[in-house]
Amino acid sequence: AKKFGGHRFAFYDPALQHELDLRLQLESDIITAIKEKQFVAYFQPQLDCQGNIIAAEALIRWIHPIKGIISPYYFIPVAEQSGLIDQLQSSVLFDACMLIKTLEQTQQLHDSFCVAINISACQFITHSLYNNIVSIVDAFGISPTRFKLEITESILLDDMAENIAQMQQLKAKGFRFSIDDFGTGYSSLAYIHTYPVDELKIDKSFIDKIHEGNRGSAIVSTIISLAHNLGFNVIAEGVETAEQAKTLTQLNITGMQGYYMAYPMPAAEFISWLKQQRNS
Ligand code: C2E
Ligand code: CA
Ligand code: CA
Ligand code: CA
Repeated sequence: AKKFGGHRFAFYDPALQHELDLRLQLESDIITAIKEKQFVAYFQPQLDCQGNIIAAEALIRWIHPIKGIISPYYFIPVAEQSGLIDQLQSSVLFDACMLIKTLEQTQQLHDSFCVAINISACQFITHSLYNNIVSIVDAFGISPTRFKLEITESILLDDMAENIAQMQQLKAKGFRFSIDDFGTGYSSLAYIHTYPVDELKIDKSFIDKIHEGNRGSAIVSTIISLAHNLGFNVIAEGVETAEQAKTLTQLNITGMQGYYMAYPMPAAEFISWLKQQRNS
């Protein structure tokens, strides 16, 4: 039989070609959208158990003139693959700095209030992170302690020593680190105390199961104790119900974020939300 015959080596795969075309199209659409300033950061509050605001997470949105609001799940992967992520990151940081400046100037902003910024793993690989972040924050004259950088566990696995060195550099500047989606990755518990981290963010999938019998709450309460024992803060993401908030409060969580408290909002709306909170 012919070894390399038949359909085994298709050099032209129409499905694959189609996918590639779509990706290239999206990439060029992202470039246009950056030029036209269609990317904006939304902000979602994080509240402590007494209901005080402690932070806000910046979440990018693509406000498309025809398609409307486009989810980051759709364009972030392509932005990462094509090296456009740094530019998106810059626009999010710019919006976050504008918000912090406005709040610092117009109202009493709690000293510990900070904005959480999502960092892609690939930004560690390209070493673009430090310059990209520090230049913007310095230009605004904002203290790096106003930020916590959300990273995923994968950063602590690949090239661990190298990535931790980059984190130390940012820590030395005053930036803090939070491990996003904690519990879904593979970070080794044996090493966790050695990471330059300040906070664990419990993934929504665990919060969803918190009332599914003893096991659901066991995992969440274990992560909370782990964080407390290590001297880390611990935040729950994706809190959607009063029951979840109540249980998390009983478990002595540092902070909660989710639709139950508030949806992600554009900066102006976030500012009015804050005012309303203060008056109520
Ligand atoms: P993430 O960092 O895990 O963000 C949490 C996601 O959950 C956000 O989706 C948020 O809007 C959503 N969320 C918040 N509360 C609730 C809730 O109570 N219920 C449910 N079902 N969802 C809730 P979003 O804004 O669509 O962002 C999706 C992902 O895109 C983020 O996941 C993050 O990985 C990425 N992303 C967003 N903004 C940025 C950015 O500026 N840079 C980078 N590199 N990635 C970003
Ligand atoms: Ca996040
Ligand atoms: Ca998350
Ligand atoms: Ca998540």
